[in-house]
Amino acid sequence: MKALLLRGPNTAFEIARLPDPVPGPGEAVARVLACGAGLTIQHVKAGRAPAKFPLVIGHEITGEIVALGAGAEGVRVGDPVTAFFYLFCGHCRWCLSSLEPLCENTGGYVGRDCDGGYAEYIRLPARLFIRLPEGLDWKTHPAEIGVVTDALATPYKVLSRARVKAGETVAVFGAGGGLGIHQLMMAKWAGARVIAVDTRREKFDACRKAGADAAVDASQGGVAEALLDLTRGQGVDVAVDYVSSTATLEAAAKALGRRGRLVTLGGAGQTFSLSARELLTREQEVLGSRYVTRREVIEALALVARREVWPMVSDIRPLEQAEALHQRLERGEVIGRAALMIA
Ligand SMILES: [Zn+2]
Repeated sequence: MKALLLRGPNTAFEIARLPDPVPGPGEAVARVLACGAGLTIQHVKAGRAPAKFPLVIGHEITGEIVALGAGAEGVRVGDPVTAFFYLFCGHCRWCLSSLEPLCENTGGYVGRDCDGGYAEYIRLPARLFIRLPEGLDWKTHPAEIGVVTDALATPYKVLSRARVKAGETVAVFGAGGGLGIHQLMMAKWAGARVIAVDTRREKFDACRKAGADAAVDASQGGVAEALLDLTRGQGVDVAVDYVSSTATLEAAAKALGRRGRLVTLGGAGQTFSLSARELLTREQEVLGSRYVTRREVIEALALVARREVWPMVSDIRPLEQAEALHQRLERGEVIGRAALMIA
């Protein structure tokens, strides 16, 4: 099969011929139509996230099951599918409680710890494949459907993690990024008033298109004050931090109102300080949110099938242009998500 191979961290893609994958027991192989491209996988390519090289990256796929190994369950040959991002075990107490991202025997990530979707075929444990619901036009829109499994499902999950209700105010830190843009979209879908926070003004038009009612330029500081101004001093009901640096977390905490919820899921993952008295007197909560459950991927796909939301994929290219596309990702130029067409 044709595949985009990375021989090591921070190297260029090599268009390679690899053996077609054969499914082992419990595994399935899918033909890949399209695969999403975002900063998560660019971090792997650039060597900022650990991975097992030589490697085929990518996990946001639209594909079609072509072969099943012995005992493989849950999908059939011919099924249109996407893939779950984490290599969960399927039998620990967290997996059995349908909380796959908390799996205690996790094998890592698709496209980092095993080969991913930048190839004509992908082989995974069958339980990682998720059959696409009826009514999803995956043949016409494989790039958009592919990114749902992460770029749209992750923000969708945050809505329930933070218990976002219609009429609440939601501030999104890192709103111009691939996940941030989709968080604006999902918060708007949930009926919230949505405020984008980002340091890159050039992303604000896209933020408004995705559903932001207001935007705060974080490059000059004063973010908490701006959020308090925009809420007449009440503070926001929910702050979602896709950056999670000390500065963004502290600004988010300071901008929270009574019963406010701060959700952190940004890659920086830094420490920050918080007033226990504020938490107590205002009954505030701090929450972590890690990827999604299989169930949440299915729910997000259903929303897209009903056209209640639609992923923002702004740059779709053939496999041969992967290097140029990843250079755009590295420079932060892509609006929303990008994707590669594989088949
Ligand atoms: Zn498990």
